[in-house]
Amino acid sequence: MSKVPVTVAYGDGIGPEIMAATLAVLGAAGAELELEIIEIGKEVYLRGNSSGIEAKSWESLQRTKVFLKAPITTPQGGGYKSLNVTVRKALGLYANIRPCMSYVPFVESKHPGLDVVIVRENEEDLYGGIEHRQSVDSFQCLKIMTRPGTERLIRYAFEYARSYQRKKVTCFTKDNIMKLTDGMFHRVFEEVGAQYPEIEKEHWIVDIGAAKLADTPQIFDLVVVPNLYGDILSDVVAQIAGSVGLAGSSNIGARYAMFEAIHGSAPRRAGQNLANPSGLLLAAVQMLLHIGQRGVAERVHNAWLRTLEKGVHTYDIFRAGKSRQKVGTREFGLAVIANLGEVPETLTPVQYGEDSLNPRSDFPYHRLEEKKVLVGVDVFAEFPGRVEELAAALREVGGEGVALESIANRGMSVWPFGLGETLLAGPFQCRFLAKAPSLGLSQRAIVDLLGSVEAAGIEFTKAELLYTFNGAEGFSRSQGA
Ligand code: NAD
Repeated sequence: MSKVPVTVAYGDGIGPEIMAATLAVLGAAGAELELEIIEIGKEVYLRGNSSGIEAKSWESLQRTKVFLKAPITTPQGGGYKSLNVTVRKALGLYANIRPCMSYVPFVESKHPGLDVVIVRENEEDLYGGIEHRQSVDSFQCLKIMTRPGTERLIRYAFEYARSYQRKKVTCFTKDNIMKLTDGMFHRVFEEVGAQYPEIEKEHWIVDIGAAKLADTPQIFDLVVVPNLYGDILSDVVAQIAGSVGLAGSSNIGARYAMFEAIHGSAPRRAGQNLANPSGLLLAAVQMLLHIGQRGVAERVHNAWLRTLEKGVHTYDIFRAGKSRQKVGTREFGLAVIANLGEVPETLTPVQYGEDSLNPRSDFPYHRLEEKKVLVGVDVFAEFPGRVEELAAALREVGGEGVALESIANRGMSVWPFGLGETLLAGPFQCRFLAKAPSLGLSQRAIVDLLGSVEAAGIEFTKAELLYTFNGAEGFSRSQGA
């Protein structure tokens, strides 16, 4: 087997200790790796690099395309950008995969039999970090979800389920409220899912789905979710499985992949040979699967399960009376090495087999052809007076082709419908619609309208253009309208 180049970062805090233990196990198990070590994190930030990663490290990543990363510490204070977000976005790592299992009776958990993979969208949703303060009183964060971004995530989730013999894929959204964004995610789930007839599919609204997941995780197999829900739920599931210290994750893109533990750098535990290296070790198992070294992955994973079974535990999972030996980071790694070649006797051994396929991750996208027509504009306006006065002023400014249709505040209709009880805070959303929508409006008509709003002495804070797509409205109606 030829050696596979891998970029490795030891990180901060407990990072160097858990990475050393992990690499020792991989070496002893016969992993064929050519390691390129890079420095990321705290020291790089403090040298004045606001992203925590230097140009020569990007070069290594571009060469190897595989990144095994220990956690890093983001220094306190402003001006430092999240290295994790930078790496994910720069390398197009659109899917975050987090397998979670309970190891009862060897690691305490209320959920014996928990065996769930969370596949979380990694780049879009509210994590674009596109935020604005619109007025003295109001703040907004844009939730942007795209069809290509969603489609490749969901396709990857189904491909993963197929490769790893997962029987059911569950999707969580909040599309009863967010009909366009989460609605699109749900619809793409149905469309893509139809191409995997052998896999059972189900959709839950995220609130009750999350409650079920926390209460009876055993009924789930693989869960695919938008970014924010996935961020929260993947930590919940890892924690109820036993400990966040036991879970590893992979971040998968079309051409790059990054593997890491789900926990942080735990600076208070650093340098004391205390930390549990299991999360990073299981991330490394995922990396071995990704680069096709399945036999080695299987040996490491089974030796690790056997080590748990033998009661050799780091402090975080050690329970007097149940565990046999409390060990440090290094000794835990050595115990796994001593168990290489063994399989667990009570827990289920893993079987990866040499010939299983890696899930595909580079999918072509076929853009839908839809007729897009400009039919109006939402003008967000600051107005200190009564809403009736605002409506009266804006009815004057509607030009030839457009007319004021409604005014809302924080999504709730306040004119013409309104009971006077709605809190009025931040800009009003003043909706102008084309008088003849089938003819559409020109961009010039919108610019002229904004000019008239300005001339009427009304301060606008933004304008959001309204379109139809094949005749269907591409915008939400305000509540109560
Ligand atoms: P953390 O996950 O580092 O630690 C929380 C607690 O969990 C620790 O005090 C420790 O008791 C326990 N813990 C975590 N990992 C453990 C392990 N392997 N073995 C035993 N116990 C473990 O979270 P935090 O304290 O909120 O963050 C510390 C730093 O880590 C921050 O600077 C944060 O920005 C960073 N962080 C980095 C990553 C990453 O690089 N992927 C992720 C999360 C947090």
